[in-house]
Amino acid sequence: MAGISTVAVHADRNVHPSRAVAPPIYQTATFWAEDADQFAQVAAESRGKDFYTRYGNPNHAQVAAVVAELEGTETAMVTASGMAALTTSVLGLVSAGDHVIGQQATYGGTASVLLNLLPRLGISTTVVDQTDPGAFEKALTPKTRLILMESPSNPLLQVTDLSAVAALAKANNVITLADNTFATPVNSRPADLGIDVVWHSATKYLNGHTDVSAGVLAGPAEILDRIWDTGVLTGATLGPFDAWLLLRGMRTLPLRVERHNANGLALAQALEDHPAIAKVHYPGLTSHPQHELACKQMSGFGGVLALELNGGFEAADAFLGHLRYSRRSASLGGVESLAVHPASMWRGMLSDQQIAESGVPLGLVRLAAGTEDTLDLVGDVLAAAELELTR
Ligand SMILES: *Cc1c(COP(=O)(O)O)cnc(C)c1O
Repeated sequence: MAGISTVAVHADRNVHPSRAVAPPIYQTATFWAEDADQFAQVAAESRGKDFYTRYGNPNHAQVAAVVAELEGTETAMVTASGMAALTTSVLGLVSAGDHVIGQQATYGGTASVLLNLLPRLGISTTVVDQTDPGAFEKALTPKTRLILMESPSNPLLQVTDLSAVAALAKANNVITLADNTFATPVNSRPADLGIDVVWHSATKYLNGHTDVSAGVLAGPAEILDRIWDTGVLTGATLGPFDAWLLLRGMRTLPLRVERHNANGLALAQALEDHPAIAKVHYPGLTSHPQHELACKQMSGFGGVLALELNGGFEAADAFLGHLRYSRRSASLGGVESLAVHPASMWRGMLSDQQIAESGVPLGLVRLAAGTEDTLDLVGDVLAAAELELTR
């Protein structure tokens, strides 16, 4: 078995080979066939690559080959965004009358699928405290078909015990989906822990250059076939050029994540005891309440951390204004550092009460460390924290 950096570079070598070292971009909406038999065969293929681009494209298949090998799953598929990966999965796997369990602390779009979209379709949902595996068990009903997990979670970096929940789900014939966007397969491989389907916002670390919106799903063919059948109907197809860019980004995923891990840990350690900071949330810190679990299921802790400023809402906003390298932006996982103050971003979206109920403190800042030099990033946040003390 080749190492992860080798896999990222070579796993697609035999998918639609040509003699070009960098794969061509198959910028075509459709493919022709030699005869009726060949046409019938490519039309019927699940997750195929040369019938019609909404059904699949060689650029999709190359991305999928690398993702499946990185995640250690039988197969993989590509969607137009992370949210398309999630909604296509739930629409493919559950029906009216079914029940789905999710986490209280989860990406905003996932929360909205659980709290708004699924109930509107007659699918009931329960959200639980992910730090307690027992809470998942208590939420199980005879109608539960699916459990959605995300570890570490956005933006509080809480860890879910993936093996414990996977075992519980298996014993009850429930399918598990884990959002592995924050950890990436470099730091954690949920399928090795028993999770059925692993998904990503490939917009983040997998692509890594903040120039593509994409999603991926990895898992057993039997489940992905059901999701793919729905994907053909929802039509959330990734453009061939975006798939090509994503493949190019993934070539360096292991290299980049190594630096993201180093930067995330260095920032967390530098800020942990700073007088302007009340608390740092980062699973790599020994002070993280689930550090032991994080060490068990992760080999690195990623580039995202969350800080609580002592001075609350105004301090968090001012801190962002002092940063030189991290720009105010909603994304993460790219080579450039980005920072967001959720409470001020949500002012236009949520009521004061909804912000209070989110469990995210008003003074919380999420920092997504890029791949810049560690000393530059540490110097930048320490200078911003010092300025905050003199405000
Ligand atoms: C960004 C993100 C998503 C949504 O992905 P898109 O590509 O923006 O649709 C889902 N989960 C997590 C953890 C994310 O950070």
